[in-house]
Amino acid sequence: MRLLPLLTDGFLDLVLGSACVVCERGGRVLCPDCRAGLPVEAAVRWPTPTPLGLVAPYAMGTYDGALRSMVLAHKERRVLALARPLGDLLGGSVRAALDDARCRVDAPVVLVPVPSRPAAVRQRGHDPTFTMTRAAACRLVAEDRDVTALRVLRLRPGVVDQAGLDTRGRAANLSGSMAAPTAVVRRLGERFPHTHVVLCDDVLTTGATLREAQRALEAVGVPVLAAAVVAATQLRDQVPNLR
Ligand SMILES: [Zn+2]
Repeated sequence: MRLLPLLTDGFLDLVLGSACVVCERGGRVLCPDCRAGLPVEAAVRWPTPTPLGLVAPYAMGTYDGALRSMVLAHKERRVLALARPLGDLLGGSVRAALDDARCRVDAPVVLVPVPSRPAAVRQRGHDPTFTMTRAAACRLVAEDRDVTALRVLRLRPGVVDQAGLDTRGRAANLSGSMAAPTAVVRRLGERFPHTHVVLCDDVLTTGATLREAQRALEAVGVPVLAAAVVAATQLRDQVPNLR
């Protein structure tokens, strides 16, 4: 059970003297002022160029400032107390996607995190994408929605870290890299028939990761409603998309 380390780390952050990851003021890992300044509404942020056929990706804002500081501190410095505010943000993106698709509030929804490389999870000591996806599900459940986070996708061996690769390199690195094991898909169908699936990730860069995750789900007959991320890199999102 991962809950205990999560609680423990959050507690230690609190008692051992932490600072706001955004403004560095001593105290909570996210001070009330910085929390109050977080975006509250998500919007569709198409990457440019948009991978062909990508579902609409919803983001709370641009990947800079507070959103960037929070994502990095949670992912790389293991500031686990940020899981909840990040989950709230990701939940906001999911909510916008469901609202735009006119999903009924009681419709079952499964949030599928993009899979992390096992080596990265070992190195970091946690799986930040899954953690914040689960937190997003909790947030939406608290709003009386029927939402579950489920690890459906697996990463095939041989995928390298995306950082440092250009758009074409990322696409090649990821092509065919994900799979949804039959047993997991069957369980998904049994537990959640007629469910809406929303892909979740922390940051949208080129859209290659989300597109590959979408492909892997569609390959086993699981349609994807939309994608949700905390933030999208500044990729000229004002340019009309050419899907
Ligand atoms: Zn602050």
